[in-house]
Amino acid sequence: MSDHQEACIFCRIAAGDMETAFVVETDRVVAFDDISPQAPIHVQVIPKRHVDSVHELGSGDTALWAEILDVANRVAVKKGVDESGFRLVSNAGPDSGQEVHHLHVHVLGGKKLGPIA
Ligand code: AMP
Ligand code: ZN
Repeated sequence: MSDHQEACIFCRIAAGDMETAFVVETDRVVAFDDISPQAPIHVQVIPKRHVDSVHELGSGDTALWAEILDVANRVAVKKGVDESGFRLVSNAGPDSGQEVHHLHVHVLGGKKLGPIA
């Protein structure tokens, strides 16, 4: 593992170093419960490969992005919020408040969610 991956908590989770239980796993993507949930259902969907944010995805990454969305939909079904509804959020850059600089999509649900911003 590179020094960068060693320092990135989500790279370590994706590599299985943290013994985090995966809600869904595919070849390139994993989903796991947020450590500090902001809603009854709060799951992170991430690529196993390090990508800083959604803004760093390039034209060659359309299949990866589609896989991330597919996993998010599978998470919603698995967590029982596909009918009640859920929200996907991906923070990118300073104004968004992004704290973990490894691309992640929050899957939020299980209650009526408030305004977006
Ligand atoms: P963001 O502000 O969009 O970068 O969100 C980062 C999210 O990662 C927050 O919701 C944190 O609670 C979550 N998080 C940070 N560390 C962990 C961890 N070790 N396991 C699960 N979720 C984490
Ligand atoms: Zn990373």
